Amino acid sequence: MLRRIHAEITRRALGKVFSPRALEIIVASNIKQDALSGQLGHNEYHFDNNAFEKSKAYIEEQRALIFPALKHAEVESAWAAFGRLTHTAQDFYAHTNYIDLWLSCQESGMIPSPAELDPLDPDLIDSPALRSGKLYYPFEALTFIPALRKFVVPFLPRDSHAWMNLDSAERGPLFEYAYQAAVRRTRYEFDLIERGFSSNDLALFQDSLESHA
Ligand SMILES: [Zn+2]
Repeated sequence: MLRRIHAEITRRALGKVFSPRALEIIVASNIKQDALSGQLGHNEYHFDNNAFEKSKAYIEEQRALIFPALKHAEVESAWAAFGRLTHTAQDFYAHTNYIDLWLSCQESGMIPSPAELDPLDPDLIDSPALRSGKLYYPFEALTFIPALRKFVVPFLPRDSHAWMNLDSAERGPLFEYAYQAAVRRTRYEFDLIERGFSSNDLALFQDSLESHA
């Protein structure tokens, strides 16, 4: 997804649960994953190139950093780890065929609205039919330049990132499903942490000690 969309999704999902200071560090760390250093050689940050196991492991690794960071009074590191994991979780919906699979499982003739989409459908989340876009470098890199995109995309295979992504509204009506799924998944990732934390640890993580005293 475009960086501004990652930022918007993160703020929408988490704006009410973190302090503004915490939220800005989470957002900054989330969108930093799309810097060039996070794009090359890091399929696991973005669920690219069918790196399903590595991407899931990456989410787990980042989640596992949060509690120790809080215990070492490094709350900003905890927020940064959470920001990184939300980026990967959000890209799952934009870079894989999850939305397509979910829609194709609906009763024929039924087109549920994006708000009805289950971002963690147990039959689909680990489905062997899941695929994610492959990055056919160097040509794929040219698709990141808006003026060149339309000339390059027709020459790329249908399983490329360029054809499969739901990174922005330009990609058509399925984008809204990916967007809403990413908002809900981001909130789910917070809820998962919330469930495992004491109220004191949670207040520290949310940077909201007064409201949890
Ligand atoms: Zn990404």
